Amino acid sequence: MSKVPVYVADRVALFKDLEHFVIEHQAEEKKLAILLININHFRRINIVYGYQVGDALLTEFTRRLRHLSRAEDYIARMGNSEFIMVLPGILNEGHATLAAHKLLSSFDEPFDLGEHKHKITADMGIALFPDHADNIPGLFQKAEIALLDARNRVQSYSIYSDNAEQHNFNAWDIEAALENALAGDEFELFFQPQICLQTGHVFGAEALIRWNNHDRGYIRPDFFIPVAEKNGQIHSITWWTINTALRLMKDWPDSWVPLKVAVNLSTKILMDPDLTDSVNSALNLWGVNHHQFTLEVTESALMDDMAASFAVLDELKSLGLNISIDDFGTGYSSMSYFKYVPANELKIDQSFVRFMLESDMDRHIVNTVIKMAHGFELKVVAEGIENEETYEALKALGCDVAQGHYLAKPMPQQAFMQWLDDYNQKKLSKD
Ligand code: C2E
Ligand code: CA
Ligand code: CA
Repeated sequence: MSKVPVYVADRVALFKDLEHFVIEHQAEEKKLAILLININHFRRINIVYGYQVGDALLTEFTRRLRHLSRAEDYIARMGNSEFIMVLPGILNEGHATLAAHKLLSSFDEPFDLGEHKHKITADMGIALFPDHADNIPGLFQKAEIALLDARNRVQSYSIYSDNAEQHNFNAWDIEAALENALAGDEFELFFQPQICLQTGHVFGAEALIRWNNHDRGYIRPDFFIPVAEKNGQIHSITWWTINTALRLMKDWPDSWVPLKVAVNLSTKILMDPDLTDSVNSALNLWGVNHHQFTLEVTESALMDDMAASFAVLDELKSLGLNISIDDFGTGYSSMSYFKYVPANELKIDQSFVRFMLESDMDRHIVNTVIKMAHGFELKVVAEGIENEETYEALKALGCDVAQGHYLAKPMPQQAFMQWLDDYNQKKLSKD
């Protein structure tokens, strides 16, 4: 199938054209994903700058899609601002999500439209064969539902789900509920253990926020954090998280070896002028040693304004705390990044770890990141480890720290303390 995006006006003809994918995948029991991609406010670009600029944008958009696609992927433009991409032979939902992430981050870079530079956003709806439908029209319908869902969300992509609860979630006034969450004491902080791969000792834990809403129960952070980032509440949430992590650490027994605790720092906080002072004061207030505390920042967050964000990280690092680059590998950083990034560790994105046993490419990426990071004296953390085989493979590759469901899921303070005691007991009896 050609990689050149054809313009397709006739859906029926297109659907017919794509049927061979279904026949092939059915026979070989393989999965495929359909991505519907819509450029937001495209009409506005035509109105403000004229059709010529609109056309230049479409050409550049197409170029980026093509650049990121594999030879076997099929791309077509379906409407004014709507594109479809068919990803044959994917292993699971994770691969479709990874593709969505890659496409979305390729739009971070402004589009050069002659005299104008323009930043665009796009929404994406994803449906999988055979999980969501077993024919092309059905898949398109499911992808349309997912696209609609993505439009109503802060996150720019959505995978089709027939979970009715998730659909009517959109109608819920999450912002208002979030306003009351702090006052209503609805947040909890969980710890997920991290283990030194080479020694088996406990390294520390990542602190992860949980929202236990009175009406709806537990709500996933990747659902509400983007909302909080949008309405500014991320500030109070971050300070709650940092202070709670430090307070809980103070309750850990003195007999424990000092553990490192990592807290996630939203991009929106990174440019706060008093960030460094506030973090420093919080550490002093709770009397926690600076080198026991780590701030995790996502790689993609730093790419927006690398010079400014590196300066902030430098300042934080000079306080003596640790900087970890989260979701590493999804942000398209170049080699020079390794040399200059003011960090102590890199966290390889879960998507690479998850498939590293099945995918030579993912294993190669993991291996390369480990080698390069070590060359620049950065520790490497692998998260999303779900089985022993992956744990052992990472150990053999020389990875430093492990985190994942194979070891333990995130848990509240009491359970974490119990888990740690049990782990140390077991380790002692084994050694
Ligand atoms: P993240 O920082 O990449 O955190 C890792 C996520 O992977 C966590 O999801 C964790 O529970 C999950 N995880 C760890 N090991 C495994 C595994 O083996 N398998 C699977 N399937 N998942 C695993 P969680 O807690 O739902 O958090 C999602 C995201 O929400 C985080 O991604 C982070 O970006 C954000 N987040 C969580 N807590 C906070 C917070 O306090 N502040 C901010 N700004 N963001 C937070
Ligand atoms: Ca993290
Ligand atoms: Ca991560």
